[in-house]
Amino acid sequence: MTTISPDYQVIVVGTGFSGLGMGIALKKAGINSFAILEKADDVGGTWRDNHYPGCACDVQSHLYSFSFEPNPNWTRMYAPQPEIKKYLQHCARKYGLMPQIQFGQEVKKAIYDEQNKLWRLETAAGKTITSRMVVSGMGGLSTAAYPNIKGLNTFKGKTFHSQDWDHDYPLTGKRVAVIGTGASAIQFVPQIVPQVAHLDLYQRTPPWIMPKPDREITSAERTLFKYVPKSQEAIRNAIYLQLESRVLGFVLNPRVMKLPELQARRHIRQAIKDPVLRKKVTPDYAFGCKRVLISNDYLPSLAKPNVDVISHGIKEVRANSIVTDDGQERIVDAIIYGTGFKAQDPIPRGAVFGKKGVDLIDTWQQGAQAYLGSAVNGFPNFFMLMGPNTGLGHSSMVFMIESQIAYVMDCLKQMQKNGWKEVDVRAEAQQSFNTDLQEKLGNSVWSTGCKSWYVNADGKNTTLWPGFTFDFRRQTANFDAKNYAVEQ
Ligand code: NAP
Repeated sequence: MTTISPDYQVIVVGTGFSGLGMGIALKKAGINSFAILEKADDVGGTWRDNHYPGCACDVQSHLYSFSFEPNPNWTRMYAPQPEIKKYLQHCARKYGLMPQIQFGQEVKKAIYDEQNKLWRLETAAGKTITSRMVVSGMGGLSTAAYPNIKGLNTFKGKTFHSQDWDHDYPLTGKRVAVIGTGASAIQFVPQIVPQVAHLDLYQRTPPWIMPKPDREITSAERTLFKYVPKSQEAIRNAIYLQLESRVLGFVLNPRVMKLPELQARRHIRQAIKDPVLRKKVTPDYAFGCKRVLISNDYLPSLAKPNVDVISHGIKEVRANSIVTDDGQERIVDAIIYGTGFKAQDPIPRGAVFGKKGVDLIDTWQQGAQAYLGSAVNGFPNFFMLMGPNTGLGHSSMVFMIESQIAYVMDCLKQMQKNGWKEVDVRAEAQQSFNTDLQEKLGNSVWSTGCKSWYVNADGKNTTLWPGFTFDFRRQTANFDAKNYAVEQ
């Protein structure tokens, strides 16, 4: 028997694509008893936090946007970060979400109250809020990862992570070290090479890089999209189908990857003439095993005279220099970390406590997992957007987010209709879903032996969806109450 009523029906955490999309869906359904908690002072999620030079989406913007809110104003096929942030601000305003967003409220703890069947959320600002349901839109790639290198804290120069780019620090004329050659680094390295006196790029594993089929969207095209929205929809659909066909190589038959690998090898040959550098930047693992990156200017920038690609491991950092395994010491003024995010710990320990006070992290000792990437047994009325194994190596995350939002909305509808106060996914349903998922992942290109943030230390892939996105959409189309224990 519940004794108290919650402050809200739903609390949404975060204002990236996930949180805003969820808020818009709630509004459209006429559910106004909700609040969105945002740690920062503006909306935008990862597109607010990442503003390093050259930051842009690596999925075409016609597809990397809400299906219900096409943007005829994209200026490029792959929109730069300021445009995506502006788009999200526009969505928040257009759909009337601003009054519902509580800024400066970082959720530190969420505790499930079994007796009252509600969540109690505590924020860093000292607020306590209760809600029947919590929908986390915190994203899996928001906590910066720093390398653990001897002597890093003794470095006297400037340091920052790609996610915390310090635009006030002038790079002009400086000797700069960049650690990492992932999706972020390949975007900012070509931007800073013309400014710096010298760049030492510390590469642990070279990424496979494909040419980026980017181009300006002309004003004539933008006018067409504005007045004939169907034309933009047709392009969106064509992009969707093209990207979806990549699943054949990633999951169904990794041998198909030989073809794009040839193209990537040609890209290296065309960009770099020096055979030593060519060899250094050529990966020795299966194409697609790590995230395939797209860029036209990254490889050419490595061939510039003021750039050294260093493939020796870093032994230690000293007050003004970096020393590699081969004993060489290089003087630097600044170190920029392009070392990515803690993708394996999407939710920190001590943040989410379910039934019997269990910490969510303790249920993830074999790696993060959820039912449909959304729900975890023992954590009733708690849904994650972009949760475990919903990531993509081939298409737009916004498609996955919209699928999960539809699922949560159907859950809310059924809760309302049936008077349920609690839905808790059954352990058997979660287990069998994940057994099937891991079996599919075992045959994928991601399991061919490389090290990437897709897999945890035990080699288990906890991040990617192994299949077509339309299959995920089919599975999340309706809330399948039979797989949940429900309570009035
Ligand atoms: P990332 O892809 O994980 O790359 C991190 C880089 O740092 C890798 O090259 C890694 O080497 C290196 N590294 C990590 N620890 C190191 C250490 N201790 N010593 C030396 N090198 C180290 O991170 P990211 O570039 O920030 O991108 C993360 C993800 O964010 C992407 O995969 C993508 O999903 C997303 N993203 C998307 C876009 C977009 O355009 N939509 C842009 C940026 C990022 P190893 O490869 O050897 O581990």
